[in-house]
Amino acid sequence: MTAINDLVPHRDLWIGGEHRPGADRIPVMNPSTGEILTDVANADVTDMMSAVGAAHATQPTWAATAPRQRAEILRRSYELMIERADDLALVMSLEMGKTRGDAEGEVAYAAEFFRWFSEQAAHLGGEFRTSPAGATRILTSQRPVGPALLVTPWNFPAAMATRKIAPALAAGCTVVLKPAAETPLTALMVAEILATAGTPPGVVNVVPTDQPGPTVEAALGDPRIRKLSFTGSTAVGRNLLRLAASNVTRTSMELGGNAPFLVLPGADVNDAVDGAMLAKMRNGGQACTAANRFIVHRSLADAFTEKLAARMKSVRIGSALDAETQLGPMITARAVAGIQEKVNAALDHGAGSLLPVDAPGVGYFHPATVLTDVAADNPILDQEVFGPVAPIVVVDDEDEAVVLANNTEAGLAAYVYASLPSALRVAEQIESGMIGINRGLVSDAAAPFGGMKQSGLGREGGREGISEYLEISYLSVAW
Ligand code: NAD
Repeated sequence: MTAINDLVPHRDLWIGGEHRPGADRIPVMNPSTGEILTDVANADVTDMMSAVGAAHATQPTWAATAPRQRAEILRRSYELMIERADDLALVMSLEMGKTRGDAEGEVAYAAEFFRWFSEQAAHLGGEFRTSPAGATRILTSQRPVGPALLVTPWNFPAAMATRKIAPALAAGCTVVLKPAAETPLTALMVAEILATAGTPPGVVNVVPTDQPGPTVEAALGDPRIRKLSFTGSTAVGRNLLRLAASNVTRTSMELGGNAPFLVLPGADVNDAVDGAMLAKMRNGGQACTAANRFIVHRSLADAFTEKLAARMKSVRIGSALDAETQLGPMITARAVAGIQEKVNAALDHGAGSLLPVDAPGVGYFHPATVLTDVAADNPILDQEVFGPVAPIVVVDDEDEAVVLANNTEAGLAAYVYASLPSALRVAEQIESGMIGINRGLVSDAAAPFGGMKQSGLGREGGREGISEYLEISYLSVAW
């Protein structure tokens, strides 16, 4: 196998178009083995502020760069990402434990943000309106909001970076990307792709760090940062919203999920099981859109449970590097312990367990788990499990399903399997930003990704994604 250091030769900070050594080094682990893969430079507060300075210094030139030129750099980044797809996928399998299939899927999804926003970059515009009294004219235009701080999680290391970088660059904003300390290698590869595609020095800066608290706080304390886009846990997001308030920094927040997966009369049970496997098991359940609660009508419960359990039982668990693996490791030993704690609490509250699957002895593995007889007040339904655990709750009617589905502050994703008219009727009542109708996947670069209630603020992707990085300016013209 290609050595990791050949795949990612530059593992320093990327600031102002230069590789910088950083204060010290952070080890990068392989969750499939629990061993250290390599290390990367570790940014401290001074490094973070250099990156903020570089982004700020380059902002005016980047904003003045012709939209077509920005679009072409993004388009070239898309092409380079596809050319390097195998290497990127391998690095994600190594540092994050993503199965080969999931890693390849993520590269395609991540690259699509470059292509989609390259197509949006040349379509920014404003309006010309006549004021109602007729005496003035109103001209509106869109301007880049300014340097953006982008904070991303470990679970989709490529896609979370491109979903933020692409619209920011398309809008004319420079960026500082702070990736999760668990998965810095993918972020550095994305930066290299952008540089090779012609992104000028200082437009994209990348600062891996194991001190996210102080570095992010320092950047948000500097008014040169005009925008924060964060994807991660609700607890950290809430804290960053407080910090962003000090300079009234604009924010986009993609926070935790607790997706309900409804199977109602009229559903094709085999299709529902296929969708459930995708919605539950993609990325080993470590997705904010992962189905977290299966809410199944009594008339379909036995068939659905039996078929889902059979599929979960056949899942091959093992190293992310083995092409046959369907369920790789969780990100850390701590994550496995957290999932086990939630499963044990669910069992203590009367749930039944199907399928103990032995996990390999090394690495951070959790078996595919199906929990039955889960009561509506079982605590597992209130928490994002972030692992391969499928709790099934049986309901007697559509109204009960909707009440249960909405019984969460996280309104990110939901899934409904039913006949089309009833699925649409139910979807209209579900408080969720994204709903899969007879589909187990909602992510799409061309669609507005985001949540309702405490799942976040703003949308990423789609036509909406770029507006998060734009301000409206208006001219009042005497006529
Ligand atoms: P996390 O909040 O611990 O980390 C996310 C990012 O925030 C990382 O870059 C981390 O280094 C940084 N961070 C951690 N503590 C910080 C602090 N005190 N100040 C500033 N930054 C800090 O989340 P995680 O465990 O990496 O990711 C899992 C969570 O992310 C889940 O809740 C999941 O639902 C959510 N998520 C949401 C989406 C979405 O689009 N809504 C997508 C993926 C993941």
